[in-house]
Amino acid sequence: MTTALIDQLRAILGAPHVLTDGDLAAYEQDWRKRARGKALAVVRPANVQQVAEVVKACAAAGSSLVPQGGNTGLAVGGIPDASGTQVVLSLQRMNAIRGIDEANLTMTVEAGCILQTLQETAEKAGFLFPLSLAAEGSCTIGGNLATNAGGTQVVRYGNTRDLCLGLEIVTAQGEIWDGTSGLRKDNTGYDLRDLLIGSEGTLGIITAASMKLYPLPAAQLTAWAAVPSLDHAVTLLGLAHKQLGAGLTGFEVMGKFALSLVDKHMPQLRVPFVDDEAVPYCVLLENSDSESEDHARARFEALLETAFEDGCVTDAVVAENLSQAHQLWHIRESIPLAQAEEGLNIKHDISIAVSRIPAFVQETDALLQREIPGVRLVNFGHLGDGNLHYNVQAPAEGDARAFLRDEEERVNTLVYDAVEKFGGSFSAEHGIGELKVHKLEKHKSPVALGMMRAIKLGLDPKNILNPGRVLRA
Ligand SMILES: Cc1cc2nc3c(=O)[nH]c(=O)nc-3n(C[C@H](O)[C@H](O)[C@H](O)COP(=O)(O)OP(=O)(O)OC[C@H]3O[C@@H](n4cnc5c(N)ncnc54)[C@H](O)[C@@H]3O)c2cc1C
Repeated sequence: MTTALIDQLRAILGAPHVLTDGDLAAYEQDWRKRARGKALAVVRPANVQQVAEVVKACAAAGSSLVPQGGNTGLAVGGIPDASGTQVVLSLQRMNAIRGIDEANLTMTVEAGCILQTLQETAEKAGFLFPLSLAAEGSCTIGGNLATNAGGTQVVRYGNTRDLCLGLEIVTAQGEIWDGTSGLRKDNTGYDLRDLLIGSEGTLGIITAASMKLYPLPAAQLTAWAAVPSLDHAVTLLGLAHKQLGAGLTGFEVMGKFALSLVDKHMPQLRVPFVDDEAVPYCVLLENSDSESEDHARARFEALLETAFEDGCVTDAVVAENLSQAHQLWHIRESIPLAQAEEGLNIKHDISIAVSRIPAFVQETDALLQREIPGVRLVNFGHLGDGNLHYNVQAPAEGDARAFLRDEEERVNTLVYDAVEKFGGSFSAEHGIGELKVHKLEKHKSPVALGMMRAIKLGLDPKNILNPGRVLRA
């Protein structure tokens, strides 16, 4: 049966696009190198008809499929399991921009388009495609949609879900649904687009999407501000909302230890205020404006003046030009890599109402330090969206691998129980994948879980799309 399926896949796609031998690590290992599976084959269709044929062939043979984009996901959702029976369906060859509709402010793109290519294509056409995250050079729009990725511009433009007007889908039965008409209003029954967004490859395969475009901002201003506490960062966020309105496009917070790791492993990046003992947190603040540069700068500087007067900012650097702004963003975006350089660590991607974040951090820091002496807390993220990467690094002198083996489950339980107590979510951005299935079962309401299971059963009764991810069979 296995050989027959592979022969059939070769007949559909051409032999060069059905990979079974050689080094398949790029498809079988996750980005964090925490897990490695074994694929029966990696298939690389070129168009939606081929995707549909592949799905039909796999369904008939009883082989399950794992859709994959750039394989940058952080929840172990896009690689095969260890059984050697799953087919990885890579969307990378489906990378055409189908068109830009300037009057409708939309761009229709195939799922395998790299996010950065979409940003650049939009800019060349005189528009902004605002989705932005540190993996943008290799993640795909299909993966962004399948995980409902957030990133650094959510405070103004929303998550990937908010940027999408429609999807083209291949169902678990190998049928094609084209919903890419780009309508801003369509109330004809259940919203299938929203159902598929964030479903992590378990309900259908996204092959194309109609995405929103925005006017390019006339001015963009970026500041790096030192704040005396997380409470002050929250006060600054309130001021920024009030004084910048819709101009506020980015509000990131970074704890001292997170920045010290960038300073240690990437000293060439010159992290502002990193040596100042009196600065426990920094904020990266961005204002994008449709008004002139002078006007925008005056408004931005007025905000910083108010913040200095209120004592919520003690020092600040304002980027003089776009290149300086990129350097500041580069420091922020280097935190995950600096953390990886420092060694294995436990990542948490949580969200809590912004107003409750300082209390959560204070209480949970104390709890972890009490329970696991020497533990190091790497705290940074999209404070404007109430989303923190509340990560835990092994004690400095310890064996990080042993720390993860012995403590990860306990650390996760302590953090996620605290998140629940504060009314938050244990997965703000990265999704569930395989990594957090048991956490979903623990923290999601049984009623919600029941509805999710009914949807999965209805759309994929044979459980061939990414089984074991998000929901257990
Ligand atoms: C350095 C770094 C920074 C990151 N920063 C952020 C951030 O700021 N915000 C954030 O939200 N996330 C962030 N992420 C994680 C983020 O989810 C991914 O980078 C991205 O959205 C995944 O896209 P991908 O193409 O790599 O998907 P993959 O990793 O290939 O897949 C992810 C999931 O989507 C499914 N999938 C992929 N393509 C399709 C498709 N076409 N149809 C159906 N299912 C599909 C897969 O089966 C898998 O379950 C970051 C990751 C890295 C490595």
